Amino acid sequence: MNTTPQETLDPQDWEAMRGLAHRMADDVIDYLRGAGERLVWQPIPAEVAATFDAPAPSAPASAEAVYREFQQTIQPYPMATTHPRFWAWYMGNGTALGAFADLWAATLNSNLGGGNHAAALVEGQVVEWMKAIVGFPAEASGLLVSGGSMANFIGLAVARNVKAGFDVRTEGMTAAPQRLTVYASVEVHSCNQKAVEVLGLGKRSLRLIPVREDFTIDLAALEEAMAADRAAGMRPICIIGSAGTVNTGAVDDLTALADICQREGLWFHVDGAIGGIGMLAENVRPSLSGLERADSVALDLHKWLHIPFEAGCALIRYGDAHLKTFSVTPEYLEHGTRGLAGGKRWFSDYGLQLSRHFRALKVWMTIKEHGLERLGRMMARNVEQAHYLAGLIEAQPALELAAPVGLDIVCYRFNPGGLDETRLNELNQEILTRLQEQAIAAPSSTRLRGRFCIRVAIANYRSTLADFDALAQETVRIGREVVK
Ligand SMILES: *Cc1c(COP(=O)(O)O)cnc(C)c1O
Repeated sequence: MNTTPQETLDPQDWEAMRGLAHRMADDVIDYLRGAGERLVWQPIPAEVAATFDAPAPSAPASAEAVYREFQQTIQPYPMATTHPRFWAWYMGNGTALGAFADLWAATLNSNLGGGNHAAALVEGQVVEWMKAIVGFPAEASGLLVSGGSMANFIGLAVARNVKAGFDVRTEGMTAAPQRLTVYASVEVHSCNQKAVEVLGLGKRSLRLIPVREDFTIDLAALEEAMAADRAAGMRPICIIGSAGTVNTGAVDDLTALADICQREGLWFHVDGAIGGIGMLAENVRPSLSGLERADSVALDLHKWLHIPFEAGCALIRYGDAHLKTFSVTPEYLEHGTRGLAGGKRWFSDYGLQLSRHFRALKVWMTIKEHGLERLGRMMARNVEQAHYLAGLIEAQPALELAAPVGLDIVCYRFNPGGLDETRLNELNQEILTRLQEQAIAAPSSTRLRGRFCIRVAIANYRSTLADFDALAQETVRIGREVVK
C-alpha cells in the first residue's frame, strides 16, 4: 500500500499558513489604520508593471513568497479609495469588518445561486433591509449584484418584459411590432445605455431628455418627447429617474416622474446608485420623496454605504414579475423542499448569474456593526462637507462652482479671469493632474455644458474639513503656478 499522502491544494504546513494568516491580518489592520498616512496616488514604476507581463508559473511557490510579491508589487499601488482625500468618480471607503467578512465568505465558499444553507438567509435578510430602506412592499423582491450597472440592468430587463406588450422571452425582440422607448435625462449614467442596448432595444430607444439649470430632468420636455414618440408609432415603456446623477448629484423630481408613469402606464425605474441609500441620511431623505413609488430601484452599496467592492442591489416592486424575467429551471437545478436543494428562494432565479459570491456577508456584518443610524450620519456629514467646500470655493475669487452642489458632489474650476474657455479647460485639466501626481488629493473630472471641471465626490467617512481647506488652497496654488 502506498503511504505517501495524496497531493492536495491544502497548505503543506498548516501552522506556517496560520503564521502567514496572522501576519496578513496584522498588515490589513495597519493598512486601514494608516489610511491617511499613505499617498492618495502614486504612479506604478515601469519595472514593477513589467512583472505583470510574466506568464503563469508552472511550478509551486511558498505562500510566503507569493505574499511577499503582493506586498512589493500590488499593495503599494492601489486605487486608494481608503484615503481621506479620495474623491474620484464615486466610491466608498470599504469597512474593516467588511474586508474580514469577505475573508469568511471566501473561506466558507458558499455558492449563493441557490440551495438550503445559511448564506441564502443572510442575503434574503439583507434584501429585506434594503426593501425597508426604500419603502418597498412585502411582495417586492431583490437581489445583490455586482454594482449599480447590473442593478440597473436587472430593473430595466423586468421593465421591458412587463411592458413590451408581447412575450419577449419566447419571441425575442424581433417580435416587437413597434419601437419600445425608454426615457431618462441626458445626465443619466451610461450603464443604462448599455443595458438598453444589451436588452435589444437599441441605443436610439433611450430618449435622452434635456435638463434644467439644476441638472434635473425637464418634465415638460419629457412629456413632449413621449407624446411625439407615441404620435410617431412608438411605445414608451419606461422612465428612468436619477436619484443622484453621476456628474453633479442632481436628484430628479421622483414624485413627478412617478405621477407621469402612473398616468401613462409606464414602468418607473430609479437609478439610485448614488443617492438611493441616502434614505438613511436626514438631510437627503426629503429630496428622495417618490422613490418609494418606483417599480424598480438600483442601489449601489459599495458607494455611499462603504461596503467593499462589489455590492449593488436590484429591487423590484413585483416579485412575480422579477421571477418571470429570469427564472429557468432545468432538471439539474431542480429545487427541493428538503435537503441541500431546499431553500425558499434561489437567487439564480432573479438574475443572470448562477454561481454567486456570498457578498451579502460583508453587507450584513457592516450594517450589524454600525447600525443604520451611524451609516446615515456618515452620509449626512458628507453632504455638509460638500456645502462647506462650496462655501470655500465661493469665498475664493479665483475659484468658481460649475454646478449647484448635489448631495455630496461638488464641481468647480479655477478661473483667474481673462482666459478663454479652451485655455480654462486645459488649465483645470493640468491642475487636476498635479493634484493627483503631487498626492494632494484625488478628485476626478467631468465636463458640464462643455466646460472641464474638477469633480469632488465625497462618499468618504474619513474626510475632515481640513482636507477640504487643503483642496481649495492647493487648487489655487497650483492654478497660479500653471498660469505663470
Ligand atoms: C456608479 C454608478 C452606476 C454604475 O454602478 P457600478 O457600481 O459602477 O456598476 C450607475 N449609476 C450611477 C448614477 C452611478 O453613479
